[in-house]
Amino acid sequence: MSKNYIVGFPRIGEQRELKKVLEEFWAKKCSFEDVQTVAKELKKRHWEYQRDAGIEFISSNDFSLYDNMLDTSVMLGAIPKKFKNLKNEELYFAMARGNASSVAMEMTKWFNTNYHYIVPELEPSDSYKLDASKIVNEYNEAKSLGIKTKINIIGPITYLGLSKRADGGDTYELWGKIVPIYEELVKTIATLDDEITIQIDEPIFVKEPNTKVLSLIKPTYDRLCAVSPNIKIAVVTYFEHSNEATKVLVHTPIWALGLDFLYGDENLNSLEIIASSGKKVIAGVVDGRNIWRCDIAKTIALLQNISKIVKKENILLSSSCSLLHTPFTLKYEDKMDKDIKEWLSFALEKLSEISLISKIFFDGEGSINEREKEALINNEEANKSRKNSPLIHDRAVQERVQNHTKFQRDGISSERIALQREIFGYKDLVTTTIGSFPQTPELRRTRSDFKNSLISRDEYEKEIKKYIDECVLFQEECGLEVLVHGEPERNDMVEYFGEQLSGYGFTQNGWVQSYGSRCVKPPFIYGDISRPKPMTVDWTTYAQSKTERIMKGMLTGPVTILNWSFVRDDMPRGEVSKQIAVALSDEIDDLQRAGIKIIQVDEAAFKEGYPLRNEKIKIYEAWATRDFKIAVGSAKKETQIHTHMCYSEFNDIINTIEDMDADVITIETARSGNELLKIFKKVGYTKEVGPGVYDIHSPRIPSVEEIVSQIELLLEVLPKEQLWINPDCGLKTRKWEEVKPSLKNMVEAVSIIRKKL
Ligand code: GLN
Ligand code: ZN
Repeated sequence: MSKNYIVGFPRIGEQRELKKVLEEFWAKKCSFEDVQTVAKELKKRHWEYQRDAGIEFISSNDFSLYDNMLDTSVMLGAIPKKFKNLKNEELYFAMARGNASSVAMEMTKWFNTNYHYIVPELEPSDSYKLDASKIVNEYNEAKSLGIKTKINIIGPITYLGLSKRADGGDTYELWGKIVPIYEELVKTIATLDDEITIQIDEPIFVKEPNTKVLSLIKPTYDRLCAVSPNIKIAVVTYFEHSNEATKVLVHTPIWALGLDFLYGDENLNSLEIIASSGKKVIAGVVDGRNIWRCDIAKTIALLQNISKIVKKENILLSSSCSLLHTPFTLKYEDKMDKDIKEWLSFALEKLSEISLISKIFFDGEGSINEREKEALINNEEANKSRKNSPLIHDRAVQERVQNHTKFQRDGISSERIALQREIFGYKDLVTTTIGSFPQTPELRRTRSDFKNSLISRDEYEKEIKKYIDECVLFQEECGLEVLVHGEPERNDMVEYFGEQLSGYGFTQNGWVQSYGSRCVKPPFIYGDISRPKPMTVDWTTYAQSKTERIMKGMLTGPVTILNWSFVRDDMPRGEVSKQIAVALSDEIDDLQRAGIKIIQVDEAAFKEGYPLRNEKIKIYEAWATRDFKIAVGSAKKETQIHTHMCYSEFNDIINTIEDMDADVITIETARSGNELLKIFKKVGYTKEVGPGVYDIHSPRIPSVEEIVSQIELLLEVLPKEQLWINPDCGLKTRKWEEVKPSLKNMVEAVSIIRKKL
């Protein structure tokens, strides 16, 4: 008998149905019943897809109208005070998105994925109360369709580990209040059926668990397992190994451990102790967060290795994590190159892979029917074709990247910056922006009309140039000192470069949920990367020709391009990033030859690529820094290199930032006063820094006084010679009516401060 298992399934819908109906509901164009109707249809469809593919363990409660962590807060009654007067969907969406009187709860990245969860806000004085309605309803919904599901819940230790406390205290102190609610939940679930499996997700176990976390495992799972004899608990981790936790879990009465053997192959080291505990292993062997077709022969070999230690009857075959992190299906991709499409597998296709592999592994190749035999042959051929395809392997690129020797810029930063200051003659507290200006509906239409051949290239260029002209004019009038062209030609800071680099593929419908109703459509890297021709030089030199002031060139850095793409799995990430870096170094050289004096290389996603395990962090930092430095290595001493990072946790990475050796870094600080800047001071950072002086994430227009006091705060930490003045991040999501007065106020604030100094 084949035993297979899916950790979780995407919920947004293959045509983003959930997104659409939610956004209509928020815009008051439909009722909440309409949302529920769509949700119900989607759940049904997704369960049926899994059942029809031959999946045995299908989840309920992996669905969510916004986010599963938020659902868990609601389940526990962990509602921040400011929302306590609300109920039902009004409460739920206010927590997620804010309402007229309160801002939303914080949102942050789910481990090292691009999915964002709503951060629970706990207080020691809170009291919790179980609301199991969503979980019970979903279970019964599936049951009424004849599908018996396992129930997914986020584990108490992960929940606490990812929460924050208003008073800054340790969230694990609330364990004693939270665990009884989980016990009650398990008790409620136990009444739903004769025997029920509960999947408890504890991904916090993979993130260098400390002794506190480890000490909570046994009491938690001893208690939850003791609630009722008809409950089987599977504790599931993913994205890395969880060996420390496994050592404890094998001594609890849980039924199974779910382990990721792809992103945490060190889990193999735990097989002996699991085997002797007699517990089941839910073996995550099909990649749940990438888009490549599984190599069935390789996967079977891995399973066979596992079964040398753990008895076959104790193995279940699974996705490495929830399929939430992959696009939905290939079936709408009718424009993609046929060969390339053969190499891919999205959530729906992965179901069939898992089903087929489990048949072969558990029942032998002899057990599969004709159609499955064909699928198996097809799989072999696709993998062979991918290995040998000229679309992937470009000898010239490989040799060039291998022989690349320029690993850093000439000169030391103090020398370079002195030289640049002499040539450019900019004042202290020089003003600039981060790159993009408002993406208006007209602009979006121009780009899409051009893409769909509704307007000619000439018409397109005329429109883009008009935007650049207006942008330059505004910046001059406003008094900004280092200008940008505004990025009107870019849909997205990675897609734009991906479209121009060889080795990159795109989907029409490969949406992945990022948060709430928001989805992203990452491009994918399938082959060796090269730059057939300059990517930004024409637009940048055009913009420069319109002004006497310095026009800053604008590129996305190699690590960000990598981190916001699906990446080929037949080559280490660091190698792929190096190829991108070499291509970018050519672009920088072309820009400086064309007279561009300042070039910004954005590394917005540098931080999110950080691995979850310390020993891997060192390796990541080494190649990520190397590749940033390769990219800018072609810049002459007098070409000023900027970088931009938009987040606020620099404490752990300040040495790496120092090492990246950019002449100027602009960062996000507006929401944290001058706290963030202090770390730059502490390490004796000598290069220039542009801490954002106002928050661009909000439509609010900051007043002159406010910006003056923000700059004064910054000056308490770093001297004026070291500071640039700019907004927090790019302005593309804002409206011109917000951007114009905000920037005018910023420039005026600088002139007030300059007079005072
Ligand atoms: N240059 C980009 C912009 O201004 C940077 C965006 C980002 O860091 N996310 O939009
Ligand atoms: Zn940013």
